[in-house]
Formats: sequence, structure tokens, C-alpha cells
Amino acid sequence: MDNKTLAQLEVITGKDNLKTSIEDLVCYSYDGYLRENLPEAVAFPQSTEQVSNILKLAGSEGFAVTSRGSGSNLCGASVPKKGGLVLAFSKMNRTIMIGRAERLAVVEPGKVLDDLEMELAPLGLSYPVDLGSSKIATIGGSIALNSGGMKAVKYGVTRDYLLGLTVVLADGSILELGTKTKKNVVGYDLMSLFCGSEGTLGIITQAVLKLVVKPKSRMVLVAHFKSMEETCKAVNEVLASGLVPAAIEIIDRLVIGSVEDYTHAGLDRSAEALLLIELDGKESAVNEDSAALNVILEKYGAYARKEAATPEESDKLWLARKSAFPSMTRLKNVCIAEDITVPVSRLYEVIKKLNELSVKNKVMMGLISHSGDGNLHPHFLLDTKEEEFKADRVLDELTPFIVSLGGTLSGEHGIGVSKKKFLGYQLKENELTTMRALKKLFDPKGIINPGSFID
Ligand SMILES: Cc1cc2nc3c(=O)[nH]c(=O)nc-3n(C[C@H](O)[C@H](O)[C@H](O)COP(=O)(O)OP(=O)(O)OC[C@H]3O[C@@H](n4cnc5c(N)ncnc54)[C@H](O)[C@@H]3O)c2cc1C
Repeated sequence: MDNKTLAQLEVITGKDNLKTSIEDLVCYSYDGYLRENLPEAVAFPQSTEQVSNILKLAGSEGFAVTSRGSGSNLCGASVPKKGGLVLAFSKMNRTIMIGRAERLAVVEPGKVLDDLEMELAPLGLSYPVDLGSSKIATIGGSIALNSGGMKAVKYGVTRDYLLGLTVVLADGSILELGTKTKKNVVGYDLMSLFCGSEGTLGIITQAVLKLVVKPKSRMVLVAHFKSMEETCKAVNEVLASGLVPAAIEIIDRLVIGSVEDYTHAGLDRSAEALLLIELDGKESAVNEDSAALNVILEKYGAYARKEAATPEESDKLWLARKSAFPSMTRLKNVCIAEDITVPVSRLYEVIKKLNELSVKNKVMMGLISHSGDGNLHPHFLLDTKEEEFKADRVLDELTPFIVSLGGTLSGEHGIGVSKKKFLGYQLKENELTTMRALKKLFDPKGIINPGSFID
């Protein structure tokens, strides 16, 4: 990018909203995965119109544009792989409106999930997509990755809460997609195409989100197990019984230890695994479900079962769960958070194989799982980035097995650069060709997030 282009960018964004110092560039050169690459500039747009003008300039000058929320993704999706410009949305984080009667919110992409939840709480409303990273993750980033999280087992994933999107295309034109209604079947569902596209097809500048009424009551319970197999059996029986927990999370022995060191939540380090379960709804229903749940947990040998007695105790247990990743980063220099999903009935089989492959490849592994969705997050702990090949070896053997079970390479973290090499295990050549054609249609000059999972 030459000085003339930078000057034109500055005219669009204003001087304070364009950074080019090396200190700033380094801060935007990496995300939650291992790769890094310096951009040439970082812009903080404040409106859809500015984003549109930036893309028109990028098209004429031929520089790459990579969007960024908080950079918390775990697959290298927001690394500016071909340099160019990072569009950082931290200053475009307003709530445009909250419609109480319609139970919807209109927000800008830089809105952080927990901030939105705090604004909704006094109105008795909730945006129930609850990520482990909800303190930092943004609406734009989570739409681009179709993020899931803890409560997907009951409430679904980001796509289920999208009513409308404003998207700027590569040529600077602006698409206004969706409606403010739950039902809408007019034309192709372009809005859903952008959700999960990892920021490779267009740039989101506004979203209309569906909300739910905050449940009146909730119960958070922790239960410890001496065996992972019994833990998985308990999960399957809970779901088969017709109970629909808001969350049912597995944490394995290694992670229990690291979380306990970090948060002192009172977890039993000697357990092979624990389940953290939340039930929500009307108080009477929660009580009834809790009784049924405890019968199942008892059957599979759950011990040291503890129901949080106060909202503060509930929050403490959730804080422990949400501290799993940061607590593991203290164990070794490098932590790769992986993401695979299988049918829930195959959970134990896959966990067993994961453990065997980790031992075989001499890599330390801690496991957490949104078990109600069959979504597993093995965390590979390494001394150096160069040891990444050990985690790759595990995945190389595991991935064909996952796919043969009807599972997927990624349930929620996305592909980015981290799993590009494994795409062929799941996608057939004609699927890849169709995806490449779509990319070409939306972004013929290849300026939007180039070098990501699709070129
Ligand atoms: C501790 C921890 C826990 C996590 N827990 C979960 C979890 O429970 N569930 C889960 O699904 N993920 C989880 N994640 C992953 C991550 O937090 C999510 O993917 C999150 O949605 C990313 O949001 P972000 O704002 O950080 O986006 P970024 O990482 O900045 O970007 C993600 C992608 O979105 C694109 N993008 C960003 N903004 C826009 C925009 N306005 N328009 C177009 N594209 C855009 C980027 O280019 C990139 O491709 C976790 C991560 C960490 C570190």
C-alpha cells in the first residue's frame, strides 16, 4: 500500500481511525491460533458507508481486506494472511435498537456478546448464544463463524438467531438481507450464506438478532465421575430421557486440575471427568427436571454432586468452565484448541481414540466438550509452536474416523488456515468447486480475507 493509498484511506476513516505504526500492526497480526502475518494498516471504520468506500478503494488499488472482531477465533481466520488492511470493528459496537415487543435487537458487528447480554438483562431478554469467549467475542466474528457454545444443546447456534444482515460486498455495494420476522422464504437464503463464511464473502456492518425471554429460573449442577465411559453414558441417557438441559459440559481430569488451580471452584481433582449441567425454565419445571436428572446421574455413579445454591455460586461454576482454556495455557507454552463433532452416541468411542492417539504421538491433551452436541474440544499442549506436527498427526489419524461416523472436522471454530489441510477428508471435490465458484462470484478480485480456507 503506497502513501497515496494510505492518504485516501485516512480521508475515509479520519486520522485517528487509521493506524500504521509497527506496534499497532503487530497487535493485529495474530489471533487465537498459531499463525501471524503483519498487515500494512489497521482501520477502525465507524459506518457502513466507510466500509463501502474502503472496499471500493481496495478494489481499485488491489489490497487485501481482512475483518476482525476481537481476534478470539482459534483457526487463524482473522490473520491478515496476505497483508493489506485489517478492518477492526471495535469502534462499530453500538446497539441501534432493542425491540421488546418483537424480541429482537439491531446491533453493529463490534458489539461484544456479554455487553449485549448485560443490556438485555434488565429488559428480561437474552441472546442465548453463550460462547466460552463471551467476554470478548463480537457479534460480527460470531456470525462470520456461526459460533455455537455452551447452550447450543437447547438454544441452537448463531444462525438460529439471525433475522437480518447488512453486508458490504467486494465492489462496495451494500446488501440489506432478511426481515424482522421469524419466517421469510423469499428468494435464496443469502443471509445464511454469509453466516459461517469466515468473513470471506462480504463484510457485515449490522445484524438483526432474534432474542428470547430470559428463563425465570435456573439450576447449575456439577457432578463428578470415576469413569469417562459412564460420564458419556449419563449424557446419552439424559438426552434420550427427553430432558433438554440448557448446557451439559464435560471436563476431563487434566482440565479439572488446571481449572481448579486457577479458580479454586471446589472441583474434585481425583475425578476422571465431571459434568457441568444447567437446567432453566419455570421454577416448577426446573425442580421436576432436576429430580429426574439426579436419578440418571446416580445410576452412572456420579458423586460429589453439588447444586449451586445461589446465583453467585452458579456464576462461580460457569467461571470455572469458561476458564478452561486460559487455565491450560499456564501448563505449557502453546495450547491448540481443537474442535470436532460426532453423533452424541459415539462420544466415548471418539474420546477413547483421542486419548490413545495423543499418547501414541506424545502430546499432552486436555478435553472439554459441549457434550450435548457431540462437540469435542481437545486442547493440545506443546512446548513450542514447532511441535504443532504432533497435534496434526493425531488429527490426521482421527479425522477420517470422525467423518466415517458422520461427524465433522469443525462444529463451531471454523477452518481458517488451521484445518485447511484436512478439508479434503470431509468435502468432496464438487463441493469445493461450488464453494470456489461462490467465492469468485462474490469476490472476483480476491480482496476479502484472501488466503483463508477457500481461495
Ligand atoms: C477461551 C475461548 C473460548 C471459546 N469458546 C468458544 C465457544 O464456546 N464456541 C465457539 O463457537 N467459539 C468459541 N471460541 C472461538 C471464538 O471466540 C469465536 O469464534 C468468536 O465468535 C470469534 O469472535 P471474534 O469477535 O473474536 O472474531 P474474530 O476472531 O476477530 O474473527 C472471526 C472471523 O470473523 C471474521 N469477521 C469478524 N468480524 C467480521 C465482520 N464484521 N464481517 C465479516 N467477517 C467478520 C474474521 O475475518 C474471521 O474470519 C472460543 C475462543 C476462546 C479463546
